Amino acid sequence: MPGFIGRLARVDLSKGKFREEEIEEEVFRKFLGGRGLAAKILLEELDPNVDPLSPENKLIFATGPLTGTAYPGSGKHIVAAKSPLTSLWGESASGGYWGPELKFAGYDALIVEGRASSPVYLWIHDREVEVRDGSHLWGMTVVEATKKIRRETDEHARVACIGPAGERFVRYACIINDMNHASGRTGLGAVMGSKNLKAVAVYGSRRRLETAKPNEFKNLLVEAHKILKESSTAQSLFNYGTSGGVPSLNELGILPTKNFQTGVFEGSERISGQAMAETILVGRTTCMGCPIQCVRAVRVEGGRFGGVTEETGGPQYETVAAFGSLLLNDNLESIAYAHYLCNQYGIDTISTGVTIAFAMECYEKKVLRKEDTGGLELKWGDPETILKLIEIIVRREGLGDVLAEGVKRAAERIGKGAEQYAMHVKGQELPMHEPRGKKALALAYAISNRGACHLTSSHDTSFSGKGIPELGIEGGLDRFAVNGKGRFVKRTEDLMGFCNSAVICRFTTAVLNPAENIPIKMIAKFLEAATGWNVGPRDLQIMGERAVNLTRIFNVRLGVTRKDDVIPSRFAEEMPEGASKGQKVTPEDLDLMLDEYYEERGWTRNGIPTKERLEALGIGEFARLIP
Ligand code: SF4
Repeated sequence: MPGFIGRLARVDLSKGKFREEEIEEEVFRKFLGGRGLAAKILLEELDPNVDPLSPENKLIFATGPLTGTAYPGSGKHIVAAKSPLTSLWGESASGGYWGPELKFAGYDALIVEGRASSPVYLWIHDREVEVRDGSHLWGMTVVEATKKIRRETDEHARVACIGPAGERFVRYACIINDMNHASGRTGLGAVMGSKNLKAVAVYGSRRRLETAKPNEFKNLLVEAHKILKESSTAQSLFNYGTSGGVPSLNELGILPTKNFQTGVFEGSERISGQAMAETILVGRTTCMGCPIQCVRAVRVEGGRFGGVTEETGGPQYETVAAFGSLLLNDNLESIAYAHYLCNQYGIDTISTGVTIAFAMECYEKKVLRKEDTGGLELKWGDPETILKLIEIIVRREGLGDVLAEGVKRAAERIGKGAEQYAMHVKGQELPMHEPRGKKALALAYAISNRGACHLTSSHDTSFSGKGIPELGIEGGLDRFAVNGKGRFVKRTEDLMGFCNSAVICRFTTAVLNPAENIPIKMIAKFLEAATGWNVGPRDLQIMGERAVNLTRIFNVRLGVTRKDDVIPSRFAEEMPEGASKGQKVTPEDLDLMLDEYYEERGWTRNGIPTKERLEALGIGEFARLIP
C-alpha cells in the first residue's frame, strides 16, 4: 500500500504476547495516521474511565503516510494514551528517526497493552517483536539505558526510552528517543513506567518505502528544498534554533517571565539562541529528511555546570524560557544543565519549569515556608535551587513528591490559595507563550484537547502578514483583537490536526509561516504522490478536523464541556509592562471567542460535537459515544 505498511503490531505485556493486525486503506483514508489513527483506536477500545496508570490503559505509537520518506520534516511520530497528568486525551509528538525506523521494521503503529510482571523492553526488528527482560535497565538514566540496549540489540537501533521519572510515575515524565528527542507532554513516560516498559528499540533493514508516484515525489522534493533554502524562518531556525525568537518575544512583551507575572525579562539577551550560538553551541542536528537542522547540540565543560554533552542535544526555546525567563534565571549554562538532567531523567522540561515557578511563587507569597521545603529557600533566579528541585521531583522526595504530581494536584494538596499560582489548563502546565499579547493563543489554550498547548493552532503573530486564502484563513491579524479569532483558531487547528495525523513537522510548513514555508497546496501534492490519493488542501483540512473532533469526543466522554475551556485567572489582569502593557484576556473576551469557535466548529454552545457535524465529516459512528 503506497505511503503505508498497512499493518500494526499489538503487544500485550501482561501475557507476553504479540500479534500483527492489518489496517485497511479505508481506515487510512479517513484517519490518515498519527493522531487520527490513535484517536480512532482509543475511542473504540479504551474504557474512558480507566486509571491512566493501570494495565488497562493503552499506549499507542503511530506514524503517518509521509513518515520515513524524504519529505522535509517526516521524521516524526506520535505517542498517545489517556494522560496521567490531565486524566484526558494524552498525546505528544517527537522528531528524530524513531518513527521512520518503526515503518522500516514493518509497522505503521504499535499498541502496547497490559503490564509486564517485571521490567522489560521491546525489541522490534523486521516484523519480529521480542519482549526482553529489562530488570538490569531499571533505574538507569536515558543515556545509560539507550547505550546498553543498543549493545544488546543493534548499534543502529532507534530507542525510545524512559528514565527514573517515568519509573516513579512523575505525572509529567516523558519518553526520550535517541537521547535527544522527546515525546515531552502529557506524562506518557509515566504510562510506560506503569507498564514496566523501559524502552522500545526498533530497527528495520527494508529502508525504502513505496510511494505511488516516485517521480512526482522527487520533483516536489526539489521544489520544497528550494523553498526552505530561501525561507528566512528556516534560516533563523538553522542559525539560532527555536530560541532565536527570544529577543523578538521580549520586544513584543510576550516572553513568559516570573511565572507569567510579566512578559519582559531583562536577561533575555543572555539566554537567547544568538547567545547560545556564540557560547555553548557545538553542533546542529536534525530529524529525518529535514534540511533545517533546528535541533541544538551543546556542551559545557568545567565549572559548576560542566559535564553537559551533546549526546542529549541542547535546549530548545520552550526549555530555555521554562528554566530561564520564567524563573528569572539568565545563566545559560545552568539552563543547559537543567535540560541535560531532564533528558537523562526523562521528564518534560516545560512542566518541570512551570512547576518550579509555581513553587517559587508560592514561597514568595508565603504559601510555602521553609518547613514545607525541607529547608530550601526557593529563590527566583537561583540555578542551584532549580537543579535541586529537579532532583527531588524525580526522586519524589519531600516537597518533590508533591511537585511531581503537576501544579494542579500540587496546588490542591498545598491549599491556602496556591491555585492562583498554578499555571495550567485542564491539568497540563502552560507552555512558554503569553496569551495576553496574542489573543488567539488564549482561546487555543482553553480549547486544546491535551490541556495547555502552544501547538493546537497557529499563533496570531505568524499571520500578521500573509494568510492561507484557499482555506479561508485570513492574514493581517491584529494580535490584540479578539473578534475573528474563533474562526482563525478553528481553521488552523484543523491544519495542525492534519500535521499531527500525517505526522509531519509544522516548522517546515505554511502553518508556521504562510509567507515562506512549504504551502498547503504542495503538501497535498506530496500526500497524493505518496499515496496515490487525489487530494487537495480542503481534504487535508477535513482530515485534521476529524482528528480534532475525535479527541474532543474522548474528553467529552470524561465530562469535559465549556466550563473546562478556561485559562488561568492571571490573564484577566493587565500585563504590567512592555509592548503588550495593559493587555488582558477577560472572561468576557474568552466567552466571545468560545462562542465564535464552537459555532465555526458546528458544536453546541456548550462545546459538544453534534451528530450532524460528525456525519458531515464522515465519522457519524462516533456520535453514539457522546453522553
Ligand atoms: S524543523 Fe527542526 S524539529 Fe522540524 S523536522 Fe526539521 S529539524 Fe526536526
